[in-house]
Amino acid sequence: MGGQGQNLGKRRIRDVRGLSAYRSRGTVGPRWLSRFGDATRQAERYRVGRVLLAGDAAHIHPPTGGQGLNLGVQDAFNLGWKLAAAVNGWAPEGLLDSYHAERHPVGARVLDNTRAQITLLGTDPGATALRELFGKLMDLEEVNRYVTGMITAVGVRYDFGEGHELLGRLPRWFGAAVG
Ligand SMILES: Cc1cc2nc3c(=O)[nH]c(=O)nc-3n(C[C@H](O)[C@H](O)[C@H](O)COP(=O)(O)OP(=O)(O)OC[C@H]3O[C@@H](n4cnc5c(N)ncnc54)[C@H](O)[C@@H]3O)c2cc1C
Repeated sequence: MGGQGQNLGKRRIRDVRGLSAYRSRGTVGPRWLSRFGDATRQAERYRVGRVLLAGDAAHIHPPTGGQGLNLGVQDAFNLGWKLAAAVNGWAPEGLLDSYHAERHPVGARVLDNTRAQITLLGTDPGATALRELFGKLMDLEEVNRYVTGMITAVGVRYDFGEGHELLGRLPRWFGAAVG
């Protein structure tokens, strides 16, 4: 952060410390404070020639649901072996481009679900009603499974076209189906 941004950051942290001391007399001198806004953004392309984007460089979103790290690690997991294949000369045509094709839609979906979560966290009557309705829906096994798969990313399915229902899914799903 530049000088002005740094001052703003310090002032906001002072505000938070003052607020927490005011609200709860026991809460003073926090060890660690961080702030974040809704800076939801995604790079249009994850690959331009020899430049490849992964992790927060490719997509950022509010930390609701704790998905950012997992999303970035899975980018790296998807990209790593493809880069190795390209470097070692055995990558088929289009393999590196499949990184964008597979990971960009996954990132876009995470941005959408964090947007939805931010809306659910609202304090206005509409958001409160939505949160109550969503809470009831979460009691349904199928809804619960769907949302869990979405947040943990075990529900990710890469698009390989028509084929077996397990095609393009993460290995965990194979275990679930076989065992
Ligand atoms: C408040 C908060 C809470 C979060 N909670 C969670 C959570 O519970 N679960 C979760 O999964 N995710 C969470 N996240 C998101 C998670 O922290 C990020 O998605 C993740 O750290 C991104 O990893 P990254 O390696 O892509 O980027 P970064 O962690 O930002 O790493 C990039 C690194 O590159 C370095 N760098 C930058 N420019 C240069 C340069 N020019 N030369 C050399 N080095 C450079 C930086 O110093 C940094 O070390 C949270 C984020 C925030 C802000």
